Amino acid sequence: MTVAIVLIVAVAAFYARRAWSGRSRGHRPNVLLITIDTLRWDHVGCYGAAQAATPVLDALAARGVRFETAIAHAPLTAPSHASILTGLTPVRHGVHDNGAFVLAPDIPRIATMMHAAGYATAAFVSGFPLDRRFGFASGFDLYDDRLPRGNAPRGAGETERKADATTARVLDWWPRPRASADAASAGRPWFVWVHYFDPHAAYDPPDEYRRRFAANPYDGEVAFVDAQIGRLFARLTGIDRLDDTIVLVTADHGESLGDHGEETHGVFVYDATLRVPWIVAGARVPAGRVVQTVARGVDVVPTLLDLAGVQIPAGLDGRSLRAALDGRAMSDEPAYVESLLASRNFGWAALRGLRDARWKYIAAPRAELYDVAQDPRESANQIERQPERVRSMSRDLDAALRAPARSAARPVDAEAAGRLRALGYVTGTGSPRGDGGGGRDPKDAIALINRLERAIADTRVDPARAATELRGVLAEDPGIVIAHRQLAVALSAAGDHRGAIAEIEALRSRDLATAEDLVLLSESLRVTGRREEAARAIEAAARLDPQSPEPALTEARALASEGHPAEAAGAYRRALDLAPDNAEALVGLGQAALVQGDVESAAAAFERVLSRDSGDVAARTGLGLVRGRQGRMDDAIALLQQVVRDSPANAEALAGLGAALARSGAPRQAVPYFERAVAAGLRTTPVLNGLGFARLETGDRAGALAALRESLSVQPAQPAIQQAVRDLAAGNDPSIRK
Ligand SMILES: [Zn+2]
Repeated sequence: MTVAIVLIVAVAAFYARRAWSGRSRGHRPNVLLITIDTLRWDHVGCYGAAQAATPVLDALAARGVRFETAIAHAPLTAPSHASILTGLTPVRHGVHDNGAFVLAPDIPRIATMMHAAGYATAAFVSGFPLDRRFGFASGFDLYDDRLPRGNAPRGAGETERKADATTARVLDWWPRPRASADAASAGRPWFVWVHYFDPHAAYDPPDEYRRRFAANPYDGEVAFVDAQIGRLFARLTGIDRLDDTIVLVTADHGESLGDHGEETHGVFVYDATLRVPWIVAGARVPAGRVVQTVARGVDVVPTLLDLAGVQIPAGLDGRSLRAALDGRAMSDEPAYVESLLASRNFGWAALRGLRDARWKYIAAPRAELYDVAQDPRESANQIERQPERVRSMSRDLDAALRAPARSAARPVDAEAAGRLRALGYVTGTGSPRGDGGGGRDPKDAIALINRLERAIADTRVDPARAATELRGVLAEDPGIVIAHRQLAVALSAAGDHRGAIAEIEALRSRDLATAEDLVLLSESLRVTGRREEAARAIEAAARLDPQSPEPALTEARALASEGHPAEAAGAYRRALDLAPDNAEALVGLGQAALVQGDVESAAAAFERVLSRDSGDVAARTGLGLVRGRQGRMDDAIALLQQVVRDSPANAEALAGLGAALARSGAPRQAVPYFERAVAAGLRTTPVLNGLGFARLETGDRAGALAALRESLSVQPAQPAIQQAVRDLAAGNDPSIRK
């Protein structure tokens, strides 16, 4: 070899290395982990779904590696994510249910490992089960779990964030295309985890996707998330970082969609809910490979660390799949799987099992063994035909269960329980009747669980029907405590407060009432006029769960609705002592200040909410009304128009907008907003008088007369309005202006 050729080879190697390792010496690839909640593997195009519209994930698989078979460890968000983030099975990390456990802070997880290796770390999550209170935030410089409060009825807000809103938060955080690439590369590499929640029930995709997927809205949710991931990739392409970023996309679990009689997920450990997509692409990953080695949730951490060049700690349950990515053969390791939902919440049997490339064994009162390679739908139980295999898998399962758990169970507070139930979960309400192998086999009673889940979802829509269904559930199994609890909620929502009180008193007499139950009890007692007992129930709730702001919030709501703003403000302040950024408490404080004429304090409270969640409807309405009081009509009109566009039946905002327009000299525009406010139920004298005088200014004397007469029917003692009505009726111009 000549010197020239040696030199050329060396230079080529130098450039090749530079291309390999990025732009500068010591450059580390960025790492993007995307988890899509409830994404069933066979509803993704590159996994063979004909009806899917997942072009972004399909393209990712084409430029990377797709694992044909990947297994999640649990069909529930928190336990499965804990495995994805720690590399440990649920047996080791100890999180077995949503909302009921805190991932122990001393358990290393990928964020702490990447952070220690010099990475900037950020997480953007979209569902309440991953709220920071459950221990997922350690190691992240930024943990964005701000879920919108929305304008939904009690218990339904702050449960999920739509994919476009989460994407917007990520794009706010990431370097922009116009920022210099040098600035981005001069900084630390980043590790970002983005969690999307949309495919989770209820299936409610944006309009465009609802139309396109009218027959299957679940696929509409999946397509919407796929498009949002496309927005993330477009930004990375725009800043020349996509090829330089390791991307791993997987799911925490799938969705049964009726398989095995299960409608959603959580109870069973069949592949319908445990088999998930697993796609890796980007820096250091070859293109277009499909790997048959089984990937598992616990393999995410070691695989990403390996690709990023970060040391893999000892003691993980997972292993790096880098050899498989590179096309080398790897043996299969079995995946531990479990669901403790039915055991923890109904006192039925726990389901635990092992799943390898060929077989799945499920320990249950009636144990199951499936040849998943030949029988992917798990329809033919081989338990009698394979005694030897059952013995060995059962032995391996026992060994997997021997590892000590590290996380602590936590009491579920009232607010968390309400938010979990708003997601349709029967979980998170505690009162476990043991966790052993005894009890009913969940597969013998899946219809009962479906019925319970439907009744829970129904409570918000048709509480009377939900109560009937819940009574049916309890007739079949009176021991399901959560059904009693939910029956009280449904009865109260249906206006049967005596029935609700009786249900909760029955729980209380068995020492099963939670703080949440006592809060509900106090509301029902108050509505039925038993105020002193209501106050005692709130005190008992606060004693039972001293960390929860819910008792103070309940008291504040009652005081505000009874017209005691100063006392309500005091209770809201107590709630804020326990939960410093609680949006309901801040909004309540703002509204109390507004009622008392303290516009400065009101503005401060509403602005504080909006600085955290710019979409908060109640805070935006409040700030709009404040601006109106301050005479800042343009600001008032802009804020309230936004509210009315997003929630067209918001009576307060409609009335405030009408008033602001009328005072800005635009009575013709004001009239329809006043009319809509009245139609939305705000039939009060200020609104009716505002409507009357706005109509008068547009020359509609008959309409003005009608509105002012209606105002007098609400409150006759309005001398000025009486005079105006007399003037109008006599054909004169009214001598007063409101
Ligand atoms: Zn989930």
